[in-house]
Amino acid sequence: MTTEVCNGNINSSWKNGVVLISGAGLIGLTIAHMLEKLSIPYSIYDRDENENFRGQGWGITLHWALEDFLSLLPAELHKDIYESEVLENFHMKDTGNFMFINAGTGETVVRIPPTKRLRVRREGIRKTLLKDMNVHWGCEAESVEINQDASDVNKRVSVTFHNGKTLQGGMFIDCEGRSSLTRKLANPEHPEACTLPYKFVGSIVELTPEEYHALAAKYDPLLFQGTIPSSGTFFWFSLLSSPTHNGTSNYKCQVNISWKLADGVANLPFASVKEAFAEVSKRTTGLHESLVVLRDKLLKTGEKDYMELCLGDWPFAEWDDYNGLLLLAGDAAHAMVMYRGEAANHGIADAKLLEGLL
Ligand SMILES: Cc1cc2nc3c(=O)[nH]c(=O)nc-3n(C[C@H](O)[C@H](O)[C@H](O)COP(=O)(O)OP(=O)(O)OC[C@H]3O[C@@H](n4cnc5c(N)ncnc54)[C@H](O)[C@@H]3O)c2cc1C
Repeated sequence: MTTEVCNGNINSSWKNGVVLISGAGLIGLTIAHMLEKLSIPYSIYDRDENENFRGQGWGITLHWALEDFLSLLPAELHKDIYESEVLENFHMKDTGNFMFINAGTGETVVRIPPTKRLRVRREGIRKTLLKDMNVHWGCEAESVEINQDASDVNKRVSVTFHNGKTLQGGMFIDCEGRSSLTRKLANPEHPEACTLPYKFVGSIVELTPEEYHALAAKYDPLLFQGTIPSSGTFFWFSLLSSPTHNGTSNYKCQVNISWKLADGVANLPFASVKEAFAEVSKRTTGLHESLVVLRDKLLKTGEKDYMELCLGDWPFAEWDDYNGLLLLAGDAAHAMVMYRGEAANHGIADAKLLEGLL
């Protein structure tokens, strides 16, 4: 398999060969745009058959890395990034707070005033980042070999895909996310992320404008989180899209419930959605009346919108970067649970840091 290079203008002072980017998620694509701007040759590929292969949707708040993110992209994409906002033009009048509530009483526990932020549909910004981007789909990297001494700079890295084909280049960036297959080269002792002892189930629910506006007025138009103290259950609400973007007359929102497993209990997936919802019903009996509509809608969702996530992160590791030939970025380097709301911001910081080093 030849290395098909993505950008046309090649920076003649670049002597490190083609940069191979494994993974066309937000971070792989951001790095690709950064390399494009610098006229550094790269090739980006992804295991999926196409960009719509799997559900790509949830909301992401870009905050402390927002300016860096925009600086890495061509100016003509900025407008579309802003148009991916979950609530159109909300950034122009952002009066929202990040609120942590007592989901049993509906009272606010902590209210953090907004800083500059943009809450976007992940699917929307990914589509924007994919514009004019030549991704090689259907290429699942299984292993990477590094030969630092190869005299031909474009033979220093060889990636082998699941279909047996190989691709060669001068440098490799693993942007494969939390289930990275090639991270094992950097950290063979811990080839897989650690599973955390939490259950996490959720769903996309539709709220009528009246239902949505009542919650937005009482809590926040974009997102809030809290706990139900009587069952030690975490409750999460976030807006995914407004009628303007989703083509319905309703607001689409994400409702998630999570809880810590008792010591020694294995973190296994539920046998069925029915079994998961029975547990959710039990755990949300103490929910405040203003939130019951969310729980009831969650329990009515079908398999299509049901989501069960296995939370995990990487153990601390010192890794060999083979003199800069093997880099990790985004969730492949530092997966974080979504409660922190900043994993993508950290991935963007990786891309910005790399820009400064090239
Ligand atoms: C519900 C939820 C809410 C979140 N909210 C926020 C938030 O508010 N703010 C924030 O900053 N972050 C948030 N995050 C985290 C954020 O979504 C991730 O950090 C970010 O999307 C990770 O991007 P990535 O490109 O590193 O990985 P991914 O998006 O996982 O992309 C990895 C890509 O690599 C491909 N791939 C995988 N393995 C291979 C392989 N072997 N070969 C080739 N391709 C491969 C995959 O198909 C995928 O396209 C949230 C996450 C969730 C789940």
